[in-house]
Amino acid sequence: MKCPRCDGNKIEVIATSPVGNVWEVYECMDCFYSWRSTETPHIHDKFKLKKEQIDTLQVIPPIPPLDK
Ligand SMILES: [Zn+2]
Repeated sequence: MKCPRCDGNKIEVIATSPVGNVWEVYECMDCFYSWRSTETPHIHDKFKLKKEQIDTLQVIPPIPPLDK
């Protein structure tokens, strides 16, 4: 299995359906994209990530505290 977003192959199962083993949720350990086994995700080329891009991703800035 390959990650639909970055083509990485480090995919882990992070959740399974509580009843009936109907679906699983997978997560890519490289870019943290996750998807359900019942989906067939299609990522537009524009949103694809390459390994080099993941390595240089900036940390999302924290949300500043609200003014009181
Ligand atoms: Zn990925």
